[in-house]
Amino acid sequence: MEQNEVGRRDFLKKSLVAGASLSALGGVASGQDPVSEKKTDQDPDGVKLLPKVPRRELGGTGKKIPILLFGCSQVFDPKYDKMLHRGFKEGVDYLDTALVYAGGESHKTLAPFVKQVGRENLWITSKSPPRNNRATVETFTRDIDICLEQLDVKHLDLYFMHYVSDPKYLEKEYIEMGDRLKKQNKTNFFGFSCHDGNVVELMNKAARVGGIDAIMFRYSFGQYGDKELNKAIDNCKKANIGLIAMKTQKSVPPEQEEVIKFKSKNFTLGQAKLKAVWADERIDSAVSHMDSLELLKENVAAAKSPIKLGMSDFHQLNRLAACTSGFSCMGCNHHCQPKILADTRVSDALRYLMYYECYDEPDKAKELYRSMSPAERQIDGVDFVDAMHACPEGVDIATRLKLAQQLLA
Ligand code: SF4
Repeated sequence: MEQNEVGRRDFLKKSLVAGASLSALGGVASGQDPVSEKKTDQDPDGVKLLPKVPRRELGGTGKKIPILLFGCSQVFDPKYDKMLHRGFKEGVDYLDTALVYAGGESHKTLAPFVKQVGRENLWITSKSPPRNNRATVETFTRDIDICLEQLDVKHLDLYFMHYVSDPKYLEKEYIEMGDRLKKQNKTNFFGFSCHDGNVVELMNKAARVGGIDAIMFRYSFGQYGDKELNKAIDNCKKANIGLIAMKTQKSVPPEQEEVIKFKSKNFTLGQAKLKAVWADERIDSAVSHMDSLELLKENVAAAKSPIKLGMSDFHQLNRLAACTSGFSCMGCNHHCQPKILADTRVSDALRYLMYYECYDEPDKAKELYRSMSPAERQIDGVDFVDAMHACPEGVDIATRLKLAQQLLA
């Protein structure tokens, strides 16, 4: 290890993030990357590709998956999709899709690619939405058949209950459903994704009840000091649950990121954020929505690079986390929502604002915002002071909701 390179444990000893707890990070190793596969390949232009993206074992599944996953919330070129093929040649052979992605078109436009490279050479995860907690065993069971039909495959590698926030989805009937779908060979593994603030509760419950093979959850450099989340991650690792990080970029407005003027000898800011997640060896992989060849190449380069983040890189990420925490809603609405004596849906409105500001998806952001009822969008006459005090991220809820109203209503 070079002198200015640090493992995550070393970094945390020096971390400026308040509350960072070494004991809560017992599962973190010294930041050593896994051994890269030594295979090489050539792209269609004859460019020699370096060894493929490294792989890690997904929990207790016994299967090794790439540390970088292809998030497929988009429409692909059915004839020959350059990004999918380039990613595949680089070892990004894990497709993460969902019934709702790209307005329902993701599956259908992925199907030709699956045929082109061969089903047996891919790992395919899909998800079915809980439809605001109205999903049932029947809808999940029906939806996996729709996934299989749209993708034109006989089985999934992993089936997720999508966007889970209600712990009821970890009760016996849903765990038994997962077992049943596996026995029916409709999926090899079963789990859930969670975006909301009760991720700790859900992860701890999953570790207790068993039957969950993998969880996809929001995880980024901004959460290093979160003791409860770290304990939940440790509990899942002990229970052999595979952990996949999403939202690794922490989604803050670009102009806020510019404040720190990130400079690194080796990495772009986006690469550094991914490297920070991979430095936590409890995390098996990170999913990235890659909608351009440039982004794919950038992410792949970071995944394949044996160079670790240096102290300066980590220090800047810490500063970025501290400087932007007030702009990034983590969806933990169990903190703020009970303090609001109105029906205003804070975390949803702020998530739609994130789509507008960070993901460059203004149409989607407006559509979702406008789909809320007037009461759910209400800010006039609502007192947000107690909610702001309760927010662990220090989000200026009133100001951000007002901006959401201005931009999205
Ligand atoms: S506003 Fe704060 S407390 Fe509410 S969901 Fe967002 S981060 Fe959590």
